Amino acid sequence: MKNPGIELFKDGKRLDGRKVDELRPIKIEAGVLERADGSAYLEWGANKVLVAVYGPKECLPRHLSDPYKAVLTYRYNMAPFSVDDRKRPGPDRRSTEISKISAEALEKVVLLEQFPNSMIKVFCEVLQADAGTRCASLTAASVALADAGIPMRDLVASCAAGKAGGEVILDLGKKEDNFGEADVPIAITPHDEEIVLFQMDGALSKEEFQKAVSLAKQGCKTIHEIQKAALKKRFEQVKPPIKAVKTEIKKSEVSK
Ligand code: UDP
Repeated sequence: MKNPGIELFKDGKRLDGRKVDELRPIKIEAGVLERADGSAYLEWGANKVLVAVYGPKECLPRHLSDPYKAVLTYRYNMAPFSVDDRKRPGPDRRSTEISKISAEALEKVVLLEQFPNSMIKVFCEVLQADAGTRCASLTAASVALADAGIPMRDLVASCAAGKAGGEVILDLGKKEDNFGEADVPIAITPHDEEIVLFQMDGALSKEEFQKAVSLAKQGCKTIHEIQKAALKKRFEQVKPPIKAVKTEIKKSEVSK
């Protein structure tokens, strides 16, 4: 998070030309996998994330089951080819941490009490990483849960803000993340703005901190609109069941 003399602003604009409060372009598609109960594919700048949801189904192994609610598991995984230097396959400290905090964020919205002794599994595969992958994964995961028809009290929208090149900015890019002063990823429930994930790396003054949180919340609200549009598109594609039409055939119409 230290800035070793790397210029993060050029002519008042960020390296990728964005304004301080501008998100990278985001695309979400729901229902992209046939075998999973729910799924979503998300592109956020150069980040590419695929999420699959299974369940609610019987909780196995049984000793993990809870007689009062479903158990929600979340696996964040970075593909070896997702980053510049090959990522060693398998879990590590970082992915374990991201999986834990993301599961806790989703537990706040999924109506787990409706499915005692069950399990809901969320798998996030980061296919290409370019900073902000925990927010991208969580944003896609909440769409995949909705695609699976799992009851939730709200979606979860996630986005980071932070400080780079002395400016408080929204949605840090790779260089801003690596060489900036601070990164604050958050996730909210867009309707009541409850913060369900909050992390901070680096240092900010009180004013900068407040500005960053407010920027990140605004970002989450924009992302919420993209999530809703993806779900709307998905469910518009599902054709309504064909209604039985009662037709009366007159005797005279029956061919002689
Ligand atoms: N990164 C990497 N190798 C790793 C982990 C991360 O190259 O093993 C890169 C990747 O582009 C990631 C960025 O560093 O998006 C920032 O990582 P961070 O831990 O801040 O998480 P993120 O911002 O992706 O949620």
